Amino acid sequence: MSVSGTQGRLWAVGEVTKRTPRTIANGHKASEYFACNTFSPRVMAEKLPKDIYKSLLKTIHTGHKLDQGIAASVAHAIKEWAIENGCTHFCHWFQPNTGITAEKHDSFLTVDGDGKAIERFSASQLVQSEPDASSFPSGGMRATFEARGYTIWDPSSPIFIQEGPNGKTLCIPSAFISYHGQALDKKTPLLRSVEYLSQNALKVLKLFGKSPTHIEATLGPEQEYFLIDEAFYALRPDLQACGRTLLGAPSPKGQQLEDQYFGSIKSRVLAYMQEVEHECFKLGIPVKTRHNEVAPSQFELAPVFEMVGVATDHNQLTMEILRQVAKRHNLAFLIHEKPFAGINGSGKHNNWSMATSDGENLLEPGATPVDNLQFLVFLVATMSGVFKHSRLLRAAIASSGNDHRLGANEAPPAIISVFLGEALTKVLDAIEANDLKGATTENQVISLGISKLPEIAKDNTDRNRTSPFAFTGNKFEFRAVGSSASTATPMATLNAAVGEALGEVAVRLEEKIKKVGDFNKAVIELVREYAKETKAIRFEGNNYSDEWVVEAEKRGLPNLRKTPEALAQLATDEAHKLFTSCGVYSDDELEARYHLEMERYIKDIEIEVACLSEMISTMILPAAYKHQANLVAAVSNLKAVGVDSGLVASQVADVEKVAGLIAGLKSALAALHTAAEKAESDDLLKKAKALAYEVAPAMEALRAVSDSLEVVVEDSLWPLPKYREILFLS
Ligand code: ADP
Ligand code: MG
Repeated sequence: MSVSGTQGRLWAVGEVTKRTPRTIANGHKASEYFACNTFSPRVMAEKLPKDIYKSLLKTIHTGHKLDQGIAASVAHAIKEWAIENGCTHFCHWFQPNTGITAEKHDSFLTVDGDGKAIERFSASQLVQSEPDASSFPSGGMRATFEARGYTIWDPSSPIFIQEGPNGKTLCIPSAFISYHGQALDKKTPLLRSVEYLSQNALKVLKLFGKSPTHIEATLGPEQEYFLIDEAFYALRPDLQACGRTLLGAPSPKGQQLEDQYFGSIKSRVLAYMQEVEHECFKLGIPVKTRHNEVAPSQFELAPVFEMVGVATDHNQLTMEILRQVAKRHNLAFLIHEKPFAGINGSGKHNNWSMATSDGENLLEPGATPVDNLQFLVFLVATMSGVFKHSRLLRAAIASSGNDHRLGANEAPPAIISVFLGEALTKVLDAIEANDLKGATTENQVISLGISKLPEIAKDNTDRNRTSPFAFTGNKFEFRAVGSSASTATPMATLNAAVGEALGEVAVRLEEKIKKVGDFNKAVIELVREYAKETKAIRFEGNNYSDEWVVEAEKRGLPNLRKTPEALAQLATDEAHKLFTSCGVYSDDELEARYHLEMERYIKDIEIEVACLSEMISTMILPAAYKHQANLVAAVSNLKAVGVDSGLVASQVADVEKVAGLIAGLKSALAALHTAAEKAESDDLLKKAKALAYEVAPAMEALRAVSDSLEVVVEDSLWPLPKYREILFLS
């Protein structure tokens, strides 16, 4: 493509207006091909002897170690299935700390001593692999002389086949660890957190007389994203390098008419969504809903919830599918939290709950008063975990992209609070206010509204969309997670925090039962204590309001506005104590995470600064100069024909305006460079803070001048596709 600058814009508009929806031939019901590209229990049952199949299922469902004795048979069955389905290669598929996935393909093909070619796949190749780990971020945990890293098969997540243009690859979901066993990925801490949550939840359930074999955290992530035409994307260096526009005046029509949300989906986008779903179904990803989101060109996809480990893998795959399928439709997929200023950004609402191996949702109010008491215990334990570790939850969602969302008027703020809804609030308030003396448990349960919980908790009419952590009937919704984030870290942090609280609940409940005698009374008393202790975290009002910021401060809730101070929480004693005691991160793993996330933040901003200054110097300034030259020529011409000096003066004023903006642009650019130079420091936190509070505002100031020029400079001279084109023409 040789087009660039203003020619490019014309070319892009021309391309876009010619696009038609891409269709795919798919005459099958989804249920007929769902999970056809996964090594599913159905395939396992078909391919494996019964006892081996059972042993493997046990490993999958309970996280028990794989019985080494069966690995060879399992590897053989997997190889057969993979080759029957056209796979030539296999890989361990894992999630290093880059936030995206990694894979290194190996061929099944082996040539033996006689030169005979044969497809081979051994048990050890299934279970473990050794990619060169030295180029993945380790946060300084791994010296280069011991660069070895290992990927270890995670049997709890289904093995799947990835289709390529000229062949297929068998992908083995894996954890990634160092030679010394430290986690080098996001998945390992997540799996550990589930184990910890399970152990402590089981202790509580035991007091309720229940003994499921284990507890799972469940996750249903609602994924928001933008789609634009790839022709516009090709002309925006900022979208390519940073994932967001660093410049761009608002479109005259933005989202003010509120005509996009749940609006009818344009056929080109619908065709895209249908193909995405088709690809997801083949991989066994249970995609359920699709709709237009609030901002123009913004959409959402949500799957049915699954176990958190599988849901996390599936969300990573979904993001990849969304990206790849977009290309086939001449679309660009934007996963950044804030691709466009002035309209909504994108989040990933993490719907989370806990479920027993018997299939009971622990955050679902039950049919009997005792079930409801159990529900209340898990509810207050969750509140307690979030209350105690809100700083770490804030750290878990920190990124340069999410800084543009949190606290802006469209996304939950950086202050973590819990929304319960009016009905549940009333119940907790009643329990708190009620004096148990003399009352029987039965009339307690009735007078406190505990027996009516199932109906009232489901009543979501007063849904609060501004809360970062909201109860929605039978699950919590952690809404502050950014659209591009892996769900692994926020979910691991939540599991750890709630796991710790459940451990404490088990101890306190046991003591209470001894003291009070009556089980139900003991539970109500404990719930009362927790309702009081965690009251500060509950907020039912408008989280976007300025009053909430003031109120939260009075309550002592942390307001960690930007990424540097949020990530700084990972270096605190609180963080080390929680994460090491529950085994989710060791001290050095946590230290490494602090370093690599801080470095990631710094690099993000540095890339933005470099990209912005280049765009200003090579695209915006030249356009402004050309426009100025045209105006100057017009003035000279006007003078030459000898018109009234008043008329000349009015046009000289136009020249002065542009010249003034150019001067403003140059000084804002110089100020940005000065701020960036001043931010240099070996102290990561200091540097990150300078980038957040000095450099980022300098970028905004520079942008403001450029955006003023955009609405003054002759349209045909403006080199970058404009918001009105990007957002409304595809
Ligand atoms: P909403 O009203 O927020 O749209 P939905 O019922 O559509 O609620 O659910 C949103 C997401 O929450 C879906 O991914 C759904 O599967 C998930 N979800 C529902 N129940 C649970 C649960 N128990 N645990 C985790 N996620 C859940
Ligand atoms: Mg929702």
